[in-house]
Amino acid sequence: MASATLLEGGSVIDGTGTAPFAAAVLIESDVIAAVGQAATERARHLQHATRIDVSGMTVMPGLIDAHVHLSFDDAASNPEVFHLRRNALSALVASYNARKLLRAGVTGILDPDSIFENMVDVRDAIDVGIVEGPRIACGCYALIPGLGGTAGRMISDTGITGYVTVVQGKDAIMAEVRRQIKVGADWIKVHVSGIAPRYAHLGEMCSWSQEELNTICETAHDLGVPVMGHSRGATSTTRAARAGMDLIFHGTGMDEAALEEVIKRRTPVCPTLTFQANIVDFGHQLGGDPAFAKLFEREIVDSVESLRRLHDAGVPLLCGSESGFSMVPYGHWHYREMEVFTRYLGLDNLQAIRCATQENAFALKMSGKTGVIAVGMKADVICVAGDPAQDLTILGEPGRVRHVFVDGRKMDLSDLPARKPLEGWRMPSMGQQLTRDFALNGNVAATASHGNPQIKGGDLHDHPG
Ligand SMILES: [Zn+2]
Repeated sequence: MASATLLEGGSVIDGTGTAPFAAAVLIESDVIAAVGQAATERARHLQHATRIDVSGMTVMPGLIDAHVHLSFDDAASNPEVFHLRRNALSALVASYNARKLLRAGVTGILDPDSIFENMVDVRDAIDVGIVEGPRIACGCYALIPGLGGTAGRMISDTGITGYVTVVQGKDAIMAEVRRQIKVGADWIKVHVSGIAPRYAHLGEMCSWSQEELNTICETAHDLGVPVMGHSRGATSTTRAARAGMDLIFHGTGMDEAALEEVIKRRTPVCPTLTFQANIVDFGHQLGGDPAFAKLFEREIVDSVESLRRLHDAGVPLLCGSESGFSMVPYGHWHYREMEVFTRYLGLDNLQAIRCATQENAFALKMSGKTGVIAVGMKADVICVAGDPAQDLTILGEPGRVRHVFVDGRKMDLSDLPARKPLEGWRMPSMGQQLTRDFALNGNVAATASHGNPQIKGGDLHDHPG
């Protein structure tokens, strides 16, 4: 007999931008079978239905986070991810961290690139119920042509480094795209732009020719697989859109030409400003230099006008957190991009929720199938104490998320067992630079040159995307 659960007495935010309304929701097997009076009626005839009183709670689509690196384990730096991790162990750790996401109300993620491309295994294990976690759509290794990405010279000239693979020339590009699809990639990930340390002051450069990007997209699309690109800067985004890329991460620094290309094709953009917003708001608590907080704030503020124009033109803006780094640890900040969208882009709370649910279903390749509370949708549903339409930040408060359903299955939200540190898993650090002034008086040097590695100037772009 199929399982059935009636969520009664709550208020519904359906994910489409509609104002909250009082309604019961009936989940049968893996789908939402009825909403409102019909749900109550139908449940009356289901003797086996479980009834859950959700008064005082909001029933809404589970949050989808379109930018999570579940294999990185809250790394404080790229070298840690590139050199200290092991394949099977990092997949096991990822499955532990996946449960943190459930407790934060996340029922789906897009993981663009993973070390050892092991996210396909974590995804498959979750899909069949071996471990609990959100739905995962994932890429394998991010493609770069040698130069590219945000790790500068840390990336080897050939082969695989961490979550990146170097591919040169048309044949190699086509072979790698096909290999990844054979392995099980849902998406192909490309670092369209990247940083060369000597030229870092110019920002990220487009590291591929138009023809190369076309080859990636043509090869993937020929096999029915979409392509996503990490893209900062006008040229990168213009070329990515022209190549027919299906999703653009960051999309900062667009000019008129880039905006035109993106708007013409309605290419979804996932700005992922949470990382920067965290540094702006909380960097000082980590001993960060206020000058860098200003720099990051400018990156957000400079993008506001173009992102708002995309939104007004009907281009989907997706919510992503870049969780997987110490600045954005798992389970803490998945709601945060919605707050950034309201504060900086001027979206209202329900519009922002729509981005993280209905629009973000695209990241899972499930547009129109999940992300909305409506009959026939997949039952990826959460129940939250309070009303996120009034205050988005309650979605980040521990304990607010009371029930989580993924594919109709009720997830275990009991406390996770405490985890001890893994030997050799983290980058050793001698910590704060021991200036005489710091040692004797506790004063941190104004330049903070050896302070927290995520917020010092040289590491401005030392986070992947
Ligand atoms: Zn990323």
